Amino acid sequence: MSIIVDRFNKIKSYINNEDITIIAVSKTFSFDYIAPLIEAGHLHFGENKVQEAETKWKKLKSEPNKIKLHLIGKLQSNKSKKAVELFDYIHSLDSQKLADSLEKYEKSLNKKLKYFIQVNVGMENQKSGIPPNEIDSFYNYCTKEKNLEILGLMAIPPNDGNEDKHFKFLYEASASLGLKDLSMGMSADYKTAIKYKATHLRLGSIIFGDRS
Ligand SMILES: *Cc1c(COP(=O)(O)O)cnc(C)c1O
Repeated sequence: MSIIVDRFNKIKSYINNEDITIIAVSKTFSFDYIAPLIEAGHLHFGENKVQEAETKWKKLKSEPNKIKLHLIGKLQSNKSKKAVELFDYIHSLDSQKLADSLEKYEKSLNKKLKYFIQVNVGMENQKSGIPPNEIDSFYNYCTKEKNLEILGLMAIPPNDGNEDKHFKFLYEASASLGLKDLSMGMSADYKTAIKYKATHLRLGSIIFGDRS
Protein backbone atom coordinates (compact mmCIF):
# COMPACT_ATOMS: atom_id res chain seq x y z
CA MET A 1 0.00 0.00 0.00
CA SER A 2 3.01 2.31 0.04
CA ILE A 3 2.06 3.24 -3.51
CA ILE A 4 -0.87 5.15 -2.02
CA VAL A 5 1.42 7.15 0.22
CA ASP A 6 3.78 7.71 -2.72
CA ARG A 7 0.98 9.03 -4.90
CA PHE A 8 -0.26 11.24 -2.11
CA ASN A 9 3.19 12.70 -1.44
CA LYS A 10 3.71 13.45 -5.12
CA ILE A 11 0.47 15.41 -5.30
CA LYS A 12 1.25 17.20 -2.08
CA SER A 13 4.62 18.33 -3.31
CA TYR A 14 3.14 19.40 -6.65
CA ILE A 15 0.58 21.54 -4.81
CA ASN A 16 3.21 22.83 -2.38
CA ASN A 17 0.79 25.05 -0.48
CA GLU A 18 0.05 24.62 3.21
CA ASP A 19 -3.21 26.56 2.84
CA ILE A 20 -4.70 23.91 0.58
CA THR A 21 -6.29 20.92 2.31
CA ILE A 22 -6.19 17.64 0.44
CA ILE A 23 -9.18 15.53 1.33
CA ALA A 24 -8.33 11.91 0.57
CA VAL A 25 -11.63 10.55 -0.75
CA SER A 26 -11.67 6.96 0.47
CA LYS A 27 -15.20 5.96 -0.62
CA THR A 28 -15.42 2.30 -1.70
CA PHE A 29 -11.92 1.60 -0.31
CA SER A 30 -11.49 -0.50 2.80
CA PHE A 31 -9.55 0.57 5.82
CA ASP A 32 -6.48 -1.34 4.62
CA TYR A 33 -6.05 1.30 1.94
CA ILE A 34 -6.55 4.16 4.36
CA ALA A 35 -4.33 3.04 7.22
CA PRO A 36 -0.98 3.80 5.48
CA LEU A 37 -2.03 7.42 4.92
CA ILE A 38 -3.04 7.79 8.55
CA GLU A 39 0.28 6.31 9.61
CA ALA A 40 2.02 8.82 7.35
CA GLY A 41 0.24 11.56 9.29
CA HIS A 42 -2.57 12.54 6.94
CA LEU A 43 -5.68 13.78 8.74
CA HIS A 44 -8.42 14.70 6.23
CA PHE A 45 -10.57 11.99 4.66
CA GLY A 46 -13.75 12.13 2.60
CA GLU A 47 -16.69 9.76 2.25
CA ASN A 48 -19.86 10.14 0.23
CA LYS A 49 -22.25 7.87 2.15
CA VAL A 50 -23.15 8.08 5.81
CA GLN A 51 -23.69 4.34 6.24
CA GLU A 52 -20.42 3.33 4.59
CA ALA A 53 -18.55 5.96 6.58
CA GLU A 54 -20.04 4.74 9.82
CA THR A 55 -18.93 1.17 9.22
CA LYS A 56 -15.44 2.28 8.28
CA TRP A 57 -14.76 5.17 10.64
CA LYS A 58 -16.94 4.96 13.73
CA LYS A 59 -14.38 3.25 15.92
CA LEU A 60 -11.52 5.56 14.97
CA LYS A 61 -13.70 8.66 15.32
CA SER A 62 -14.72 7.64 18.84
CA GLU A 63 -11.08 7.70 19.95
CA PRO A 64 -9.13 10.86 20.69
CA ASN A 65 -7.19 11.83 17.56
CA LYS A 66 -6.98 14.62 15.03
CA ILE A 67 -8.63 12.85 12.12
CA LYS A 68 -11.17 14.99 10.30
CA LEU A 69 -13.95 13.36 8.34
CA HIS A 70 -15.63 15.14 5.44
CA LEU A 71 -19.03 14.18 4.04
CA ILE A 72 -18.88 15.05 0.34
CA GLY A 73 -21.97 13.21 -0.96
CA LYS A 74 -25.69 13.92 -0.90
CA LEU A 75 -27.16 13.97 2.61
CA GLN A 76 -30.82 13.15 3.26
CA SER A 77 -32.21 14.93 6.30
CA ASN A 78 -33.25 11.64 7.88
CA LYS A 79 -29.55 10.75 8.14
CA SER A 80 -28.43 14.06 9.55
CA LYS A 81 -28.23 12.88 13.15
CA LYS A 82 -25.70 10.21 12.21
CA ALA A 83 -23.88 12.69 10.00
CA VAL A 84 -23.52 15.22 12.81
CA GLU A 85 -22.26 12.49 15.13
CA LEU A 86 -19.63 11.19 12.74
CA PHE A 87 -18.42 14.01 10.51
CA ASP A 88 -16.48 17.23 11.09
CA TYR A 89 -17.28 18.85 7.72
CA ILE A 90 -20.24 18.58 5.38
CA HIS A 91 -19.68 19.74 1.80
CA SER A 92 -23.19 19.03 0.51
CA LEU A 93 -25.44 21.47 2.33
CA ASP A 94 -28.13 22.09 -0.26
CA SER A 95 -31.58 22.72 1.22
CA GLN A 96 -33.40 24.57 3.98
CA LYS A 97 -34.85 21.31 5.20
CA LEU A 98 -31.35 19.88 5.60
CA ALA A 99 -30.11 23.06 7.31
CA ASP A 100 -33.04 22.86 9.76
CA SER A 101 -32.26 19.28 10.60
CA LEU A 102 -28.52 19.87 10.99
CA GLU A 103 -29.15 22.80 13.31
CA LYS A 104 -31.42 20.62 15.42
CA TYR A 105 -28.81 17.89 15.85
CA GLU A 106 -25.93 20.30 16.39
CA LYS A 107 -27.93 21.55 19.36
CA SER A 108 -29.02 18.22 20.77
CA LEU A 109 -25.59 16.64 20.34
CA ASN A 110 -23.80 19.82 21.41
CA LYS A 111 -21.44 19.68 18.46
CA LYS A 112 -20.60 22.24 15.76
CA LEU A 113 -19.58 21.24 12.25
CA LYS A 114 -18.16 23.22 9.36
CA TYR A 115 -20.09 23.43 6.12
CA PHE A 116 -19.80 24.13 2.44
CA ILE A 117 -22.91 25.10 0.49
CA GLN A 118 -23.12 22.96 -2.63
CA VAL A 119 -23.97 24.91 -5.78
CA ASN A 120 -25.26 23.24 -8.95
CA VAL A 121 -23.10 25.45 -11.18
CA GLY A 122 -24.15 23.70 -14.38
CA MET A 123 -27.85 23.48 -13.44
CA GLU A 124 -27.72 19.74 -14.12
CA ASN A 125 -30.76 17.65 -13.22
CA GLN A 126 -28.74 14.72 -11.93
CA LYS A 127 -26.59 16.81 -9.60
CA SER A 128 -27.52 18.26 -6.26
CA GLY A 129 -26.79 21.76 -5.09
CA ILE A 130 -28.71 24.98 -4.91
CA PRO A 131 -29.21 27.01 -8.10
CA PRO A 132 -26.59 29.77 -8.52
CA ASN A 133 -29.18 32.52 -8.18
CA GLU A 134 -30.11 31.34 -4.67
CA ILE A 135 -26.62 31.49 -3.17
CA ASP A 136 -27.10 34.75 -1.27
CA SER A 137 -30.49 33.95 0.21
CA PHE A 138 -29.52 30.41 1.20
CA TYR A 139 -26.26 31.61 2.74
CA ASN A 140 -28.21 34.15 4.80
CA TYR A 141 -30.66 31.50 5.89
CA CYS A 142 -27.91 29.13 7.03
CA THR A 143 -25.86 31.71 8.87
CA LYS A 144 -28.46 34.11 10.29
CA GLU A 145 -31.40 31.82 10.98
CA LYS A 146 -29.62 28.52 11.61
CA ASN A 147 -26.29 29.65 13.00
CA LEU A 148 -24.38 27.13 10.88
CA GLU A 149 -20.69 27.80 10.29
CA ILE A 150 -20.36 28.18 6.52
CA LEU A 151 -16.78 28.08 5.26
CA GLY A 152 -17.53 28.58 1.58
CA LEU A 153 -19.03 27.06 -1.54
CA MET A 154 -18.64 23.64 -3.13
CA ALA A 155 -19.34 22.42 -6.64
CA ILE A 156 -18.91 19.48 -8.97
CA PRO A 157 -18.79 21.25 -12.34
CA PRO A 158 -20.27 19.64 -15.45
CA ASN A 159 -17.99 17.70 -17.70
CA ASP A 160 -18.39 20.20 -20.54
CA GLY A 161 -14.83 21.37 -21.07
CA ASN A 162 -15.59 24.67 -19.33
CA GLU A 163 -14.27 23.92 -15.89
CA ASP A 164 -12.34 27.21 -15.92
CA LYS A 165 -15.60 29.12 -16.25
CA HIS A 166 -17.33 27.13 -13.51
CA PHE A 167 -14.43 27.37 -11.05
CA LYS A 168 -14.14 31.10 -11.70
CA PHE A 169 -17.85 31.52 -11.07
CA LEU A 170 -17.61 29.68 -7.76
CA TYR A 171 -14.56 31.68 -6.71
CA GLU A 172 -16.30 34.98 -7.43
CA ALA A 173 -19.54 33.92 -5.74
CA SER A 174 -17.64 32.85 -2.63
CA ALA A 175 -15.56 36.03 -2.56
CA SER A 176 -18.65 38.21 -2.89
CA LEU A 177 -19.96 36.64 0.32
CA GLY A 178 -16.63 37.40 1.97
CA LEU A 179 -15.79 33.70 2.25
CA LYS A 180 -12.35 32.40 1.45
CA ASP A 181 -12.79 28.64 1.40
CA LEU A 182 -13.70 26.75 -1.74
CA SER A 183 -14.29 23.02 -2.04
CA MET A 184 -13.58 22.22 -5.66
CA GLY A 185 -11.21 20.12 -7.71
CA MET A 186 -11.22 16.34 -8.12
CA SER A 187 -8.63 13.98 -9.60
CA ALA A 188 -9.25 15.10 -13.19
CA ASP A 189 -9.41 18.85 -12.66
CA TYR A 190 -7.64 19.78 -9.44
CA LYS A 191 -4.86 21.69 -11.18
CA THR A 192 -7.44 23.98 -12.76
CA ALA A 193 -9.26 24.32 -9.45
CA ILE A 194 -6.04 25.53 -7.82
CA LYS A 195 -5.78 28.32 -10.41
CA TYR A 196 -9.11 29.61 -9.09
CA LYS A 197 -8.06 29.46 -5.44
CA ALA A 198 -9.53 26.15 -4.35
CA THR A 199 -8.74 25.56 -0.67
CA HIS A 200 -10.20 22.05 -0.29
CA LEU A 201 -9.41 19.49 -3.01
CA ARG A 202 -11.44 16.29 -2.97
CA LEU A 203 -9.10 13.67 -4.42
CA GLY A 204 -10.02 10.01 -4.72
CA SER A 205 -8.81 7.89 -7.62
CA ILE A 206 -5.59 9.80 -8.11
CA ILE A 207 -4.58 8.69 -4.61
CA PHE A 208 -6.31 5.33 -4.09
CA GLY A 209 -6.56 4.09 -7.69
CA ASP A 210 -9.62 3.31 -9.80
CA ARG A 211 -12.87 2.44 -8.08
CA SER A 212 -14.25 -0.73 -9.61
C1 LIG B 1 -15.92 10.59 -5.53
C2 LIG B 1 -15.94 12.06 -5.33
C3 LIG B 1 -14.75 12.80 -5.43
C4 LIG B 1 -13.40 12.19 -5.82
O1 LIG B 1 -13.43 11.84 -7.15
P1 LIG B 1 -12.08 11.41 -7.93
O2 LIG B 1 -12.40 11.69 -9.35
O3 LIG B 1 -11.89 9.97 -7.65
O4 LIG B 1 -10.99 12.25 -7.41
C5 LIG B 1 -14.81 14.16 -5.19
N1 LIG B 1 -15.97 14.77 -4.87
C6 LIG B 1 -17.13 14.10 -4.76
C7 LIG B 1 -18.36 14.83 -4.39
C8 LIG B 1 -17.15 12.71 -4.99
O5 LIG B 1 -18.31 12.05 -4.87
